[in-house]
Amino acid sequence: MKTLPATIIAILKNRLEKNGVKPLNGSLNILFGTHLAAFVFIILSVYAPQTADAQHHGYWQQEVEYVMDIDFDVETNRFDGHQNLTYHNHSPDTLNRVFYHLFFNAFQPNSMMDKRSRTIADPDNRVRDRIYHYDETEIGYQEINSLTQNGRDVDYTIKGTIMEVHLAKPIAPGESVEFEMDFHAQVPLQTRRSGRDNAEGIRLSMAQWFPKIAAYDDRGWHPNPYIGREFYAPFGTFDVTIHIDRDYVVAAGSILQNPEEVGYGYETDDMQVNRPDGEKLTWNFRSENVHDFMWAADPDYTHTTAQVPDGPLLRFFYQTDPVAENADDDQQEELLENWEELPEYTVRAFEYMNENYGEYPYEEYITIQGGDGGMEYTMGTLITGNRTLRSLVGVTVHELIHAWYEGVVATDETTDQWIDEGFTVYLSAFVMNELFDDGEEDPMLSRYGGYFNVVNAGIEEPMHIHADHYITNTAYGMASYTKGAIFLHQLGYIIGNDVLKRVLNRFYEEWQFKHPRGHDFLRLAERESGMVLDWYYEYWIETVKTIDYGIVAVEADNGQTELILERIGLMPMPLDVEVKFTDGSVKHYYIPMRIMWGEKENEFPDIERVVADDWPWVFPEYELTIDRPVDEIERIEIDPTQRMADTDRSNNVWRAEDS
Ligand SMILES: [Zn+2]
Repeated sequence: MKTLPATIIAILKNRLEKNGVKPLNGSLNILFGTHLAAFVFIILSVYAPQTADAQHHGYWQQEVEYVMDIDFDVETNRFDGHQNLTYHNHSPDTLNRVFYHLFFNAFQPNSMMDKRSRTIADPDNRVRDRIYHYDETEIGYQEINSLTQNGRDVDYTIKGTIMEVHLAKPIAPGESVEFEMDFHAQVPLQTRRSGRDNAEGIRLSMAQWFPKIAAYDDRGWHPNPYIGREFYAPFGTFDVTIHIDRDYVVAAGSILQNPEEVGYGYETDDMQVNRPDGEKLTWNFRSENVHDFMWAADPDYTHTTAQVPDGPLLRFFYQTDPVAENADDDQQEELLENWEELPEYTVRAFEYMNENYGEYPYEEYITIQGGDGGMEYTMGTLITGNRTLRSLVGVTVHELIHAWYEGVVATDETTDQWIDEGFTVYLSAFVMNELFDDGEEDPMLSRYGGYFNVVNAGIEEPMHIHADHYITNTAYGMASYTKGAIFLHQLGYIIGNDVLKRVLNRFYEEWQFKHPRGHDFLRLAERESGMVLDWYYEYWIETVKTIDYGIVAVEADNGQTELILERIGLMPMPLDVEVKFTDGSVKHYYIPMRIMWGEKENEFPDIERVVADDWPWVFPEYELTIDRPVDEIERIEIDPTQRMADTDRSNNVWRAEDS
C-alpha cells in the first residue's frame, strides 16, 4: 500500500471533514487503497485551482481566529481582556505545545529589552535606560488569569515576554482547537512602538497589546522574545470589542462594525448616530486576512477621510491642539497644515502603488498620530506628527508601502527583515520622487552612501542574521533598510529594471496573505529573468563580501582597443561598460557572468549594445576588445547607471585626457 505524505493527509482530512465526511482515525491510507478514484479527485480538487508556480512545493500556513473583548480603564491605564482564539493547525505536525507573545512584559526593569538596551553599544534613543527606571505605574505587563484548551485548563510557563503552553491534548495535523483566556494588562509609558502618553501627548498607542500566539511554520515555532525588533504572526480574522470612556476617540487598523453607536466621524451621511447610555462606549472592529490588530485612542483626535479612486477609504486621526506639545503658535499652524495636506499625498501614493505594484486588498487604511516614529501595522500605521510636510509624507509613504510588504505579503520580519524594510525603502524612493516632483533620474542612488559608510567602518553584518542578534543597531539598520533596498536596485541592474518590476508584481500576486521567504522571491526573479541567481543571494544576503571592479589598462591593438578589467572585490558581478567615442557616439558592452547562464535584455535600446563573452568569476582579469582605435575613445566607464554597489568607483572610469 502506498503511504501518503502527512501534508496531503492533513489536507484531505480537512477537506473530508468540511464536506461532512468523517474518516476513521488512521484509516486514510487504507481508504486510499480502496477508494483510489475518489481520492485522485480530491487531490486534484486540492491542487487544481493553483497554478504550477503557486503550489510553493507543499507550502502550508497556520490560521487564527481571534475574538476579544476589552474593558479599558483610562484612569489606571489597565484593562481586562477576554480572548477566544480558534487555532487551525494546517501543518503536517502534531503540536504538543504552543507559545504566546506577552509583549508588554518587555517594559519592565531587567527585561530582555531593558538589558539589551543598556548593554548594546548604540542603543535606540527612545529606549536607552528608561525602562530600568520605571515605577509600578509606568511599567507594562500582561497577566494571564485563566487559560483553557477546548474547555480544559492548561498549564503554562511565562518567561519574560513569552508564554509556553503545555497542551491538555496535542493538536493533530488538520485539527482546530479553541483557547479561551482571561487576561489583565497595564499599558506601559510609551517606550518603543506602543504605550501611553507618547511624546506628543497621545493617550494610548496600542500595538503589541494582546497575548498573541507565536508563529509556527516549516522551521518550527518562533517564540522570539520581544527585545527590540519586529514581528511575525499567522494570518486570520480579528473581531475586537473595546469598551472605553465615551470621550475617547478610537482609531484601529480594522473596520468599525457599529459606526451608528459611535459617531466620531465614522458615521455615513445617511446614518443617525445613537450612542447608548453609560460611562463607556463600545467599539467593535472586525478584519479578515490579517495578522495583527493595532489601535489607538485619544480624547482629542480629529478624524478626516479621503477616498482613493478604485481603492481604499483612507482615515486620518491626529490631534489638532496642539499637534505637538511644546510647539509655538507658528509651528503649531504649520504642523496643522501639514496634516491637512497629508491625505492628498497619501491618495496619490496609494494610486501609484495600486497601478504599479498590485492592488491594496482591504477596504480601509488608517494613518494615526501616535507611537514613537513610524511603525507599520495591518491596515494602518502609527506615526508621530511633529514633522515637516516632507517628513510627514515620507513616513506615511514608507509605512503604507509596508501594507504591501509586511501587511499583505507577510514575510518574517525577524529573519527576512531586509525584505519588508528593503523593498519599502526602495519603492519609497520612487514614490517620493513622484509625489514631490524631485525629478531625480534615479532616486535610489543617494541611498548607497549609507551602505558604503558601514562597510568602511568595518561593522557590517550579513543580512540573514536574526534581527535581534546584530551586534549593533547601526548594522541592523543598514542591512535591513539600506542593503535590502540596494538588493532590489542592484537586482534591477542584473536582470533589468522592467524584469524586476514584473518580479515584484508576481511576488505580490502569488504570495498574498502568505509568508514567503527570501528564496521564494529569488526563485521568481530566476523564472522571470531566465537567469541563475543563487550566487547573488549567497553573496549579497549571506556574506559581507563587497564589489569592486576596476579598469587596469586601455591599449592600442592593431587598429582596435584592448580594455583590461579586473575584479578586486570578492563578490563577482556582471558588468555594463559604456564607451564614449570622440565623435560623440556611445556603445555599451555587456559582460555577463558565466554562472548566470543567461543575459539581460538591452535596457537602452537606443544605444548599440555588444554582448561580450561571459566572465568566469575565478578569473581575476578580463580582456575586452573594442573595435575602434584607442585615439577615437574619449571615455570608458564601468556601470554607468551606478546601480552596482561598487565600493571604489575611482577605478571605474578611464578618460583619454588623463592618459
Ligand atoms: Zn519600515
